[in-house]
Amino acid sequence: MGTVMTIQGEIGGEDLGVVDYHEHLCFDAPPWLLREDPDFKLNDVEKSAQELHSWLEAGGKTIIEMSAIDFGRNIRGTKQVSDLVPDANVIVITGFNKPYFCDQSVWQSDESDLIRRCIQDIVEGINGTGLKAGIMKGGTGYNTFNDHDQKLMRIAAIVQKETDVPIITHTEAGTMGFEQIEYLDDHGVEPHRVCLSHLDRNPDLWEHKRIAQTGAYLGYDCPGKAKYGPDEWRIDLLKRLIDAGFGQQILLGNDLGRPSYWRSYGGGPGLDFVLTKFVPRLLSQGIDQHIIDDMLINNPRRFLIGD
Ligand SMILES: [Zn+2]
Repeated sequence: MGTVMTIQGEIGGEDLGVVDYHEHLCFDAPPWLLREDPDFKLNDVEKSAQELHSWLEAGGKTIIEMSAIDFGRNIRGTKQVSDLVPDANVIVITGFNKPYFCDQSVWQSDESDLIRRCIQDIVEGINGTGLKAGIMKGGTGYNTFNDHDQKLMRIAAIVQKETDVPIITHTEAGTMGFEQIEYLDDHGVEPHRVCLSHLDRNPDLWEHKRIAQTGAYLGYDCPGKAKYGPDEWRIDLLKRLIDAGFGQQILLGNDLGRPSYWRSYGGGPGLDFVLTKFVPRLLSQGIDQHIIDDMLINNPRRFLIGD
């Protein structure tokens, strides 16, 4: 079986266990963003460790830390969190989240320099730490696919082909997912090496089926975040996708990139929500355990090892 790079080193696909495919553990959001929205300050190592521990206690094993370069990825802080909870696997990433977060340095830099930097993160390690990224990120804005969006997606495509790590993208409110797959495909990336995030922000079955038919993975990461619609919608959509035969292409996460989402900061739903609350509800609403195992264990494993 193939291997996957984590912050603690390479592990076998069979050691991934239950995976949260889109999470945040520790990052330093850009100062302008923090002024705009102080609820992006998520860098207290102890609190992050507490939250990660709750995921492990609930039966989780692997977390993908999706904070990209432009979002203030904090590799040393993330390693400290991981060291405090050594039984959890933490996968870190490289690449860029979306044009809105990128500063001028991204637009002024040569594409080849940005590509080289991302490849270095994957092959040699991040910022001289020797800690290697295992995922490439790219993303687009709300209903846009302009020059900036394309630049980030093109970098993702080239890095994927050079290094063979999979891509997880950001979609803004679940838009432009199909266009992302088309664009990546045009740039030589096979759809099954790509997972789209936040699709449940746009609970549109027709659109999700169209994406699934390409062979790409569909990321649902808003359980418990009622401001993005009730879980009833999410569960209904999941059931219909599963009935349509796409149960092997869905990944689950919670994308809790704000302190207000964490119990360790006095908020919620908390990092264990998917396992302690959402999964029992899926079972009670008629989704089989074996499909839940696919979404949390088998699908992320296939996606990560590139099977
Ligand atoms: Zn995120």
